[in-house]
Amino acid sequence: MPSRRLGRSLGIDLVPFKACTYDCIYCQLGRTTDRTLKRKEYVPVDGVLEELARKLSDGDAPDFISLAGSGEPTLHDGLGRLISGIKSMTKIPVAAITNGSLLWDRDVAEPLMSADLVIPSLDAGDAAMFGRINRPHPGIDFDRMVRGLVGFRQKYRGRIWLEVMLLDGLNDSEPAVRKIAELAGRIRPDRVQLNTAARPPAEGAVRPVPFCRMRELTNLFPAPAEIIASGPGKSAKVESEGGNQGEKILAMLRRRPCTAEDVSKGLGIHRLAALKELEALAKKGEARKAETGGSWFYVA
Ligand code: SF4
Repeated sequence: MPSRRLGRSLGIDLVPFKACTYDCIYCQLGRTTDRTLKRKEYVPVDGVLEELARKLSDGDAPDFISLAGSGEPTLHDGLGRLISGIKSMTKIPVAAITNGSLLWDRDVAEPLMSADLVIPSLDAGDAAMFGRINRPHPGIDFDRMVRGLVGFRQKYRGRIWLEVMLLDGLNDSEPAVRKIAELAGRIRPDRVQLNTAARPPAEGAVRPVPFCRMRELTNLFPAPAEIIASGPGKSAKVESEGGNQGEKILAMLRRRPCTAEDVSKGLGIHRLAALKELEALAKKGEARKAETGGSWFYVA
């Protein structure tokens, strides 16, 4: 998938939809259906490595292999074997995109030491805001989560980009952002990346922070801070209207072949959600995949 931060990123989906330690109010994947702390081998590591080897043998190398998924990837307990398996196969850097909730756990932190880049999240400067925005599993304590991030930085030699999701009227006041910035100062990431809900999520009245406000807020952070949000898209309205997403996508494909990126932009949905819908259509035989100019298109 094209990624603003990672270039061309080959994402490995390590947990099923939607196993996560959080249930963030801004989650583009919708509500967490399995809010859990249970770590297990959700998908077999050997199978993932075999699939990856096949994919890489196409010769079309991505800029990053990213461990992500339809939830929290560190819930997968085979991370160590997986990362060392990837490392023995290719020199392509590995990025782990995590909510950072489990980094206090050595069984999670140790395997991540061999990743080249870790992108954790921190959206709140105190436990109350953490509860409102991230709605964590009751077993996750805010202070322990923060200590996990701080401790991880002290041992980890790779790059850390700390992502902060700012939401209008929730955590975008100067005092709220100062609190997050203070914690960021303790964590010492290589970069802070400010994001915002670029479109209304499926639930609630979550609103994006205007770009000019985001720009002001970057100055509060001690580490180099940048804005990675693309801003609210015109198409966000389409999703908020609800309805059958598969039908809307099929209607788009009937007009012209589309990539997952086209569908994501066209319908204002997360790329991963677009990809899932497209794959479902392909499985049902309602769309087929065709490669042109190095990109995969879906054709009705
Ligand atoms: S941590 Fe990520 S996947 Fe989990 S609920 Fe929050 S945004 Fe969604």
